[in-house]
Amino acid sequence: MADDTAASAELDRARAGDPRALARLLSLVEDESPRVRSVIKDLMPGTGGARIIGLTGAPGVGKSTMTSALVAAFRADRARVAVLAIDPSSPFTGGALLGDRIRMQAHAIDDRVFIRSMASRGHLGGLATSTPQAIRVLDAAGFDPIIVETVGVGQAEVAIASLADSVAVLLAPGMGDAIQAAKAGILEAADLFVVNKADKPDAQQVVRDLRTMIALGERRHGDWKPPIVTTVAVKGDGIDELVSRLDEHWSWLATTGELKRRRQARAREELTALAFAALRGRLAASRLDELAGRVADGTLDPFEAADELLGR
Ligand code: GDP
Repeated sequence: MADDTAASAELDRARAGDPRALARLLSLVEDESPRVRSVIKDLMPGTGGARIIGLTGAPGVGKSTMTSALVAAFRADRARVAVLAIDPSSPFTGGALLGDRIRMQAHAIDDRVFIRSMASRGHLGGLATSTPQAIRVLDAAGFDPIIVETVGVGQAEVAIASLADSVAVLLAPGMGDAIQAAKAGILEAADLFVVNKADKPDAQQVVRDLRTMIALGERRHGDWKPPIVTTVAVKGDGIDELVSRLDEHWSWLATTGELKRRRQARAREELTALAFAALRGRLAASRLDELAGRVADGTLDPFEAADELLGR
């Protein structure tokens, strides 16, 4: 009970703009603390307002440079911007990774910008269930938009990126090219493509490859055709166009009902993941070992064992 009151007071402080209160709430989420449950229950009514923008791409394509430029662009006309940088490959602890400090420099004196890294604690399953909670905390604290930056181009990163309302996939000449992205299944997840480092000579080739891939690919976005934006993030070139395209996608989501559909699909995934995790825990705590022993020594068939395990 005392914990609940404390969490609620913490959320009030976070809403009022206290970054340390916010950081503490996010640490609860990252640590998968048992208190997360009551925190989320408490803040749930104040969520759903923020627009979530996913940014993903291979290491080195320019994600953090781009994020920083995007934050500046959004800060020009919006109240409070949050960045959640997720690195599924680095099981470091703590909220203050080197990347944070680098990212923070440009916005260090801006108390309406909040930037936080989350690491995997060694298992990706943790991030899959804790990232939505971290987004809720930031949403309830009044940040809008929330940029979720994920490193990498694998399925897992795509899954995390798809927690966003709009997913921008970054590519750059020489790294994480279109063919690799297609192999990783990332093209289907993209609402927008950004070809960064357009100051490099082979950037136009990446754009051409991408066009071919898009033409060949399956259309899962209804009548939305993913645009390709070319940028030079280090100079801020193309950022205004990227913001316009993101705004267009946001309007499209709202007017077609796709936003509601997407968010419901996401909630379904989240619920299923939570239910499976709970069920797995329950099964392990029940007669799993005993039944497995009987299946292994041939005295029980696995179908009957599964029925017994489920209490049927
Ligand atoms: P991340 O690993 O995807 O977050 O990439 P970073 O933002 O850290 O950028 C990787 C490197 O590419 C850095 O040295 C950046 O300065 C550089 N970089 C980022 N954007 C551009 C760009 O538009 N053109 C060029 N030439 N370099 C860039």
